[in-house]
Amino acid sequence: MRSYLLINHSIGGTEGATALLKFNMRNQSTVTCKYSGCLHLEKTLDKEQAIKSGNSYYHPDCFQTKEDIKKIIDLFKNHVNPNPVYSTLQSVIKNIVFTKGLGSDFLLFGLQYYIDHKIPLNYPQGLYYVIQNKQVLDAYNKSKVKNMKGNIEIKEDSGSEFTHVPIQNKSFADIIK
Ligand SMILES: [Zn+2]
Repeated sequence: MRSYLLINHSIGGTEGATALLKFNMRNQSTVTCKYSGCLHLEKTLDKEQAIKSGNSYYHPDCFQTKEDIKKIIDLFKNHVNPNPVYSTLQSVIKNIVFTKGLGSDFLLFGLQYYIDHKIPLNYPQGLYYVIQNKQVLDAYNKSKVKNMKGNIEIKEDSGSEFTHVPIQNKSFADIIK
Protein backbone atom coordinates (compact mmCIF):
# COMPACT_ATOMS: atom_id res chain seq x y z
CA MET A 1 0.00 0.00 0.00
CA ARG A 2 2.83 2.32 0.86
CA SER A 3 4.45 1.80 -2.56
CA TYR A 4 1.14 2.36 -4.35
CA LEU A 5 0.73 5.76 -2.77
CA LEU A 6 4.34 6.67 -3.37
CA ILE A 7 4.23 5.85 -7.08
CA ASN A 8 0.94 7.65 -7.64
CA HIS A 9 2.16 10.74 -5.91
CA SER A 10 5.53 10.89 -7.57
CA ILE A 11 4.52 10.08 -11.17
CA GLY A 12 0.76 10.22 -11.60
CA GLY A 13 -1.36 9.71 -14.75
CA THR A 14 -0.67 6.90 -17.23
CA GLU A 15 2.96 6.65 -16.29
CA GLY A 16 1.93 6.12 -12.71
CA ALA A 17 -0.46 3.34 -13.71
CA THR A 18 2.25 1.62 -15.73
CA ALA A 19 4.70 1.85 -12.89
CA LEU A 20 2.09 0.46 -10.54
CA LEU A 21 1.37 -2.44 -12.89
CA LYS A 22 5.06 -3.30 -13.15
CA PHE A 23 5.40 -3.11 -9.39
CA ASN A 24 2.50 -5.50 -8.90
CA MET A 25 3.69 -7.98 -11.51
CA ARG A 26 7.12 -8.16 -9.97
CA ASN A 27 5.69 -8.49 -6.52
CA GLN A 28 3.26 -11.27 -7.43
CA SER A 29 5.58 -13.44 -9.53
CA THR A 30 4.67 -17.04 -9.02
CA VAL A 31 6.49 -20.32 -9.51
CA THR A 32 5.34 -23.91 -9.82
CA CYS A 33 6.22 -26.59 -7.28
CA LYS A 34 8.37 -29.18 -9.01
CA TYR A 35 7.88 -31.96 -6.49
CA SER A 36 6.44 -35.09 -8.10
CA GLY A 37 4.71 -35.95 -4.83
CA CYS A 38 3.17 -32.50 -4.42
CA LEU A 39 -0.26 -32.88 -2.84
CA HIS A 40 -1.23 -29.21 -2.98
CA LEU A 41 -4.28 -28.42 -5.08
CA GLU A 42 -2.58 -25.20 -6.10
CA LYS A 43 0.80 -26.09 -7.62
CA THR A 44 1.78 -22.46 -8.13
CA LEU A 45 2.91 -20.29 -5.26
CA ASP A 46 4.43 -16.94 -4.56
CA LYS A 47 8.10 -17.03 -5.47
CA GLU A 48 9.02 -15.44 -2.17
CA GLN A 49 7.37 -18.25 -0.26
CA ALA A 50 8.91 -21.05 -2.30
CA ILE A 51 12.08 -22.96 -1.50
CA LYS A 52 14.59 -22.82 -4.32
CA SER A 53 16.84 -25.77 -4.94
CA GLY A 54 18.97 -25.77 -8.07
CA ASN A 55 16.69 -24.36 -10.75
CA SER A 56 13.52 -25.69 -9.15
CA TYR A 57 11.03 -24.24 -6.71
CA TYR A 58 9.04 -26.11 -4.08
CA HIS A 59 6.37 -25.59 -1.48
CA PRO A 60 8.25 -25.52 1.86
CA ASP A 61 6.49 -28.68 3.06
CA CYS A 62 7.06 -30.46 -0.27
CA PHE A 63 10.75 -29.63 -0.04
CA GLN A 64 10.86 -30.93 3.53
CA THR A 65 9.18 -34.19 2.50
CA LYS A 66 11.56 -34.57 -0.43
CA GLU A 67 14.60 -34.07 1.82
CA ASP A 68 13.24 -36.36 4.55
CA ILE A 69 12.68 -39.16 2.04
CA LYS A 70 16.20 -38.71 0.69
CA LYS A 71 17.52 -39.03 4.26
CA ILE A 72 15.34 -42.08 4.95
CA ILE A 73 16.71 -43.86 1.87
CA ASP A 74 20.30 -42.93 2.80
CA LEU A 75 19.86 -44.13 6.38
CA PHE A 76 18.31 -47.35 5.20
CA LYS A 77 21.14 -47.94 2.76
CA ASN A 78 23.92 -47.03 5.18
CA HIS A 79 22.61 -48.65 8.35
CA VAL A 80 19.99 -51.26 7.55
CA ASN A 81 20.63 -52.87 4.21
CA PRO A 82 23.19 -51.70 1.65
CA ASN A 83 21.32 -53.35 -1.21
CA PRO A 84 17.63 -52.93 -0.63
CA VAL A 85 15.10 -53.60 -3.38
CA TYR A 86 14.71 -49.95 -4.30
CA SER A 87 11.29 -50.22 -5.88
CA THR A 88 9.99 -51.87 -2.71
CA LEU A 89 11.71 -49.37 -0.43
CA GLN A 90 10.31 -46.47 -2.41
CA SER A 91 6.79 -47.85 -2.56
CA VAL A 92 6.77 -48.58 1.19
CA ILE A 93 7.95 -45.02 1.94
CA LYS A 94 5.41 -43.53 -0.47
CA ASN A 95 2.66 -45.64 1.01
CA ILE A 96 3.47 -44.50 4.54
CA VAL A 97 3.99 -40.83 3.70
CA PHE A 98 1.44 -40.19 0.94
CA THR A 99 -1.24 -42.87 1.21
CA LYS A 100 -1.36 -43.09 4.97
CA GLY A 101 -0.41 -39.45 5.39
CA LEU A 102 2.04 -39.98 8.24
CA GLY A 103 4.64 -37.24 8.28
CA SER A 104 7.93 -37.97 6.55
CA ASP A 105 9.61 -36.50 9.64
CA PHE A 106 7.92 -39.14 11.77
CA LEU A 107 9.17 -41.97 9.54
CA LEU A 108 12.66 -40.44 9.50
CA PHE A 109 12.60 -40.12 13.28
CA GLY A 110 11.43 -43.72 13.66
CA LEU A 111 14.10 -45.13 11.39
CA GLN A 112 16.79 -43.15 13.22
CA TYR A 113 15.37 -44.44 16.50
CA TYR A 114 15.58 -48.06 15.28
CA ILE A 115 19.19 -47.52 14.22
CA ASP A 116 20.18 -45.75 17.46
CA HIS A 117 18.55 -48.43 19.61
CA LYS A 118 19.79 -51.28 17.41
CA ILE A 119 16.30 -52.64 16.88
CA PRO A 120 16.45 -55.29 14.14
CA LEU A 121 15.17 -54.17 10.77
CA ASN A 122 16.14 -55.87 7.54
CA TYR A 123 13.63 -55.26 4.83
CA PRO A 124 11.79 -52.20 3.54
CA GLN A 125 8.52 -53.71 4.78
CA GLY A 126 9.96 -53.43 8.28
CA LEU A 127 9.23 -49.71 8.10
CA TYR A 128 5.58 -50.61 8.70
CA TYR A 129 6.65 -51.89 12.12
CA VAL A 130 8.63 -48.73 12.77
CA ILE A 131 5.56 -46.51 12.40
CA GLN A 132 3.56 -48.73 14.74
CA ASN A 133 6.20 -48.98 17.42
CA LYS A 134 4.94 -47.50 20.68
CA GLN A 135 8.44 -46.56 21.87
CA VAL A 136 9.04 -44.67 18.63
CA LEU A 137 5.74 -42.85 18.92
CA ASP A 138 6.40 -41.87 22.54
CA ALA A 139 9.92 -40.69 21.76
CA TYR A 140 8.66 -38.75 18.75
CA ASN A 141 5.96 -37.02 20.75
CA LYS A 142 8.46 -36.17 23.47
CA SER A 143 10.90 -34.71 20.96
CA LYS A 144 8.11 -32.63 19.44
CA VAL A 145 7.21 -31.22 22.84
CA LYS A 146 10.87 -30.55 23.58
CA ASN A 147 11.36 -28.73 20.29
CA MET A 148 8.26 -26.65 20.88
CA LYS A 149 9.46 -25.68 24.35
CA GLY A 150 12.57 -24.16 22.83
CA ASN A 151 10.49 -21.68 20.93
CA ILE A 152 7.13 -21.08 22.51
CA GLU A 153 5.27 -21.83 25.69
CA ILE A 154 3.01 -24.84 25.57
CA LYS A 155 -0.55 -24.44 26.72
CA GLU A 156 -1.46 -26.91 29.41
CA ASP A 157 -4.16 -28.62 27.41
CA SER A 158 -2.24 -29.02 24.17
CA GLY A 159 -0.65 -32.39 24.92
CA SER A 160 -2.99 -34.38 22.70
CA GLU A 161 -2.03 -32.40 19.60
CA PHE A 162 1.19 -34.30 19.31
CA THR A 163 -0.32 -37.75 19.08
CA HIS A 164 -0.44 -39.62 15.81
CA VAL A 165 -3.88 -41.10 16.30
CA PRO A 166 -4.46 -42.90 12.97
CA ILE A 167 -1.99 -45.72 13.47
CA GLN A 168 -3.15 -46.69 16.94
CA ASN A 169 -6.26 -48.53 15.92
CA LYS A 170 -4.77 -50.26 12.95
CA SER A 171 -3.29 -53.71 12.95
CA PHE A 172 -0.35 -54.55 10.76
CA ALA A 173 -2.72 -56.31 8.36
CA ASP A 174 -4.72 -53.10 7.98
CA ILE A 175 -1.63 -51.03 7.40
CA ILE A 176 -0.25 -53.12 4.54
CA LYS A 177 -3.51 -53.11 2.56
ZN1 LIG B 1 4.32 -28.77 -3.73
